[in-house]
Amino acid sequence: VAIPMSPWRARDEFSVLSETFNTMLANLEEVYRRQQRFVADASHELRAPITSIRCNLDLLTKAPDLPPEEINAALVDTHAEAERMGRLVNDLLTLARTDSQPPVLPGHRATHYTTLIELDSLVLEAFRQYRHVGESHPPYPRILLQHTEPALIYGDADALKQALIALLDNALKYTPSTGSVALALHTHTSEQTQIACITVSDTGIGIAEEDLPHIFERFYRADHARTRDKGGSGLGLAIVQRIAEDHLGSVKVESTPGKGSQFTLCFPIADDDH
Ligand code: ADP
Repeated sequence: VAIPMSPWRARDEFSVLSETFNTMLANLEEVYRRQQRFVADASHELRAPITSIRCNLDLLTKAPDLPPEEINAALVDTHAEAERMGRLVNDLLTLARTDSQPPVLPGHRATHYTTLIELDSLVLEAFRQYRHVGESHPPYPRILLQHTEPALIYGDADALKQALIALLDNALKYTPSTGSVALALHTHTSEQTQIACITVSDTGIGIAEEDLPHIFERFYRADHARTRDKGGSGLGLAIVQRIAEDHLGSVKVESTPGKGSQFTLCFPIADDDH
């Protein structure tokens, strides 16, 4: 015998349903707004190198009797702008790829990461690579490996390398050649979970307090004019954060203007029974 639902219960269920629906709609609107802003920002960022390339080509085609050094300067500039555009498009593609991956549910390992990665080998490899570049391109900030220990995590080696390279590139970009950049890998236990943390510390220009909460946002640059000069897309840290979250990890920053910055990238260590 079907027992009729009390009108009170029906009303309760209806209000829960409508609340859930409203929350979902608000979330979707937020995602839509963010996507729209992202597309507008990306178009704006791409417009700058395109305009510069077009101006240089106009100059070269409309003024054929330019002195050779001016022709050369215009070509060098065009090349640099094309390179910048290439980096920007690569970064945009990386973000688009990670955006299209299924979201990682809290407490669940991303199903696409089933490979065990030796984080210590990755750190050592990055250190050797950068030390080699530093030695062959003096003057260059000193690069140090402060500490490392064995740490296995589930992940994507290419993505992890990309995150580490983005942090090292930034450290080197924003540190004078008289300064230093240090790399370290430590493991510890936090809330009964074993964690591996990579730190990239530099003695560079540092980041102002008001910029710190924003530097992981897409296209955010702490000092637009100065950092644009460094050829950055403003997407590097957004990509690092996405990669960390995809690995159920996190990325944090501490910085003192004029003294330097420290970025810490943490991941849960793979359980022994896997
Ligand atoms: P960009 O490509 O401009 O470097 P990122 O997303 O990698 O973009 O970084 C965002 C901003 O954060 C940079 O423009 C810069 O102002 C600041 N930043 C990042 N790393 C450092 C660092 N190690 N030292 C000082 N400033 C940094």
